[in-house]
Amino acid sequence: MAEKAKKAASSKGLLQSEELYRYILETSVYPREPEHLKEIRDVTADHPRAMMSTAPDAGQLMAMLLKLVNAKKTIEIGVFTGYSLLLTALTIPEDGQIMAIDVNRETYEIGLPVIKKAGVDHKINFIESEALSVLDQLLKDSENEGSFDYAFVDADKVNYWNYHERLMKLLKVGGIAVYDNTLWGGTVAMSEEQVPDHLRGGRQATLDLNRSLADDPRIQLSHVPLGDGITICWRIF
Ligand code: SAM
Ligand code: CA
Repeated sequence: MAEKAKKAASSKGLLQSEELYRYILETSVYPREPEHLKEIRDVTADHPRAMMSTAPDAGQLMAMLLKLVNAKKTIEIGVFTGYSLLLTALTIPEDGQIMAIDVNRETYEIGLPVIKKAGVDHKINFIESEALSVLDQLLKDSENEGSFDYAFVDADKVNYWNYHERLMKLLKVGGIAVYDNTLWGGTVAMSEEQVPDHLRGGRQATLDLNRSLADDPRIQLSHVPLGDGITICWRIF
């Protein structure tokens, strides 16, 4: 890129401060966040891994995407206590379905009473399993091909590309896959030496994923700096 264009791109400025983030949350996100989602945040707050929950501002965009594609049949990889799951369940229609996969049922059960209180548990098929084998199982039945409207992937970063390959068959053309944590704590733009040890494996997987997604002609893509980075992939063929 020419130097002038580079300067113009960076001077647009993303989030410059915590105050600006709070401003977005308090002005546009929290006032519209459904009460039951606030409650899931509350019941998760004391969990030692509470920061794994989907950021409410990213969730707000995901709800819009679900509405835009009229999502009815969806899949979620990585449930934790259920913030993104409840968000999806509240957004899709009454006869919508979510296949929700997580290796850990215990954390799902932390949020489950809130999901039940919200009256949307009938839309959820929770599967306690690692996700790759579930996707492979789905693909054994050709009826599942092109049948999903929406997928949210938020677990097991090293397998994101493997999930993507399978989701490109399971999603219909016009369906959307959203990948979370695609900026991996900002490490994707750090030099090797700056990256904390515990983030190295995920960083390499994220760098590889981001490059491969950018090269994938099957999708229209947007890499959005919300939360820890989300990448929206719209299957175009
Ligand atoms: N989307 C969730 C939310 O909004 O709260 C957060 C998900 S959290 C970042 C990641 C979850 O993935 C954890 O609950 C973990 O148990 C699960 N997980 C890790 N490896 C997995 C795998 N191979 N297959 C399925 N789930 C997995
Ligand atoms: Ca995440």
